[in-house]
Amino acid sequence: MGHEIDSVEMFFFPFVGGGHQIPMIDTARVFAKHGAKSTILTTPSNALQFQNSITRDQKSNVPITIQILTTPEDTEITDTDMSAGPFIDTSILLEPLKQFLVQNRPDCIVIDMFHRWAGDIIDELEIPRVIFNGNGCFPRCVIENTRNHVVLENLSSDSEPYVVPGLPDRIEMTRSQVPIFMRNPTQTAQFAERMKKLEGKCFGTIINSFYDLEPAYADYTRNELGTKAWIVGPVSLCNRSLEDKKERGKQPTIDEQSCLNWLNSKKPNSVIYISFGSVARLSIKQLKEIAYGLEASDQSFIWVVGKILNSSKEEETGSGNWVLDEFEQKMKEMDKGLIFRGWAPQLLILEHEAIGGFMTHCGWNSTLESVCAGVPMITWPLSAEQFTNEKLVTDVLRIGVQVGSKEWGSFDEERKELVGREKVELAVKKLMKSEEADEMRRKVKVIAENAKRAVVEGGTSYGDIDSLIQGLKTRRIASQV
Ligand code: UDP
Repeated sequence: MGHEIDSVEMFFFPFVGGGHQIPMIDTARVFAKHGAKSTILTTPSNALQFQNSITRDQKSNVPITIQILTTPEDTEITDTDMSAGPFIDTSILLEPLKQFLVQNRPDCIVIDMFHRWAGDIIDELEIPRVIFNGNGCFPRCVIENTRNHVVLENLSSDSEPYVVPGLPDRIEMTRSQVPIFMRNPTQTAQFAERMKKLEGKCFGTIINSFYDLEPAYADYTRNELGTKAWIVGPVSLCNRSLEDKKERGKQPTIDEQSCLNWLNSKKPNSVIYISFGSVARLSIKQLKEIAYGLEASDQSFIWVVGKILNSSKEEETGSGNWVLDEFEQKMKEMDKGLIFRGWAPQLLILEHEAIGGFMTHCGWNSTLESVCAGVPMITWPLSAEQFTNEKLVTDVLRIGVQVGSKEWGSFDEERKELVGREKVELAVKKLMKSEEADEMRRKVKVIAENAKRAVVEGGTSYGDIDSLIQGLKTRRIASQV
């Protein structure tokens, strides 16, 4: 017997870790605000990181809940410092997930692609599966076409440029910018096979981007790569209240009010914000180059220093060594810059009018957040697909300058080459003080307006969200006939 369907039920199964978990939580909240009954499946300690924002949504009658998946004691996957690498094995969650799904059958489950094991059991239960992989259309196209058409082994060196074939723009990359696992033909083939299997049988893919950011690549993703894609972002824009912005990802470890007060004392567009995301680690030697470069640029800054790579106390504070704490103290006394350790409220900082540039590792979320805040970038890619994101920012959108990072490495790996202080200084001056930068700032502000339009009624992302919800309703009605 068929009955009236007024809301679809969607489960969201995020990965553990900043760059993937944060946008998936936002996505669940966005769908709930569009009327889908949304449930986030997570572990107890991960739930704590976003519990408050969900409680606030519930108080405003948004249909969203958290479902805790428990594992035997002491086996919980935690990511309390938000730095789980992408290769953490989450398969301990298989049994609790399966048990829950057997008893609760949603209209679809959105899973992060890093839960590599989850596809099979969801398919066995015949629950529509939607993939979330955390990046945008442009990186997807560059990676796919490199993987399918470029024989990286035939290049004469790591620095020889190749043009990524088949794309709407001329995009040049080098082998040194491509993830290590893509340089090995066997591994590439295996990976491609796995992804094909994962995506092949799925209901579709959710992409955190917006059509106007990368229209040619959104079309390419759908028409040439054949991805059934709903482009639903930027999902970070669902964080409207001060609390949501402040606590996004997790509780900030800094006093956000004193940070905002400091920014209030600065002129518009006069401060550069520096952060390398939730997982990347830089060596103390690299931090020192950044510090000297910043000092020489004479630009005010907020610098979120993440975990330091392989550093011993001796290396950080030993006699004769350069000491970050001393630099921090000096900058504070000169009222030139703030250095934060730990977790910063990135959205709040980026949106402040004093911020005029973002030195970023080009994680997809940071890139989108910078775009949404109308802030041009200094691009300093390190790992994952960040080198492709850099190309989008500097070569396609032309809203950033490259610092000159040339070599892909794992997030916790020391680079062969440092980016020297002169390069840092030059990039900061170019972004903060040149005519070229004024043009970039003008352009990025236009894109920021387009982003805001995409997520409100009549916008492309708004439409794609409703279309997925409608597709699920239609599917349910069809299955009841
Ligand atoms: N982030 C934050 N505070 C920090 C560091 C990171 O709020 O101190 C957030 C940032 O706003 C973004 C996410 O963490 O939403 C990082 O994702 P991204 O894709 O930029 O990089 P990843 O961490 O995956 O390398």
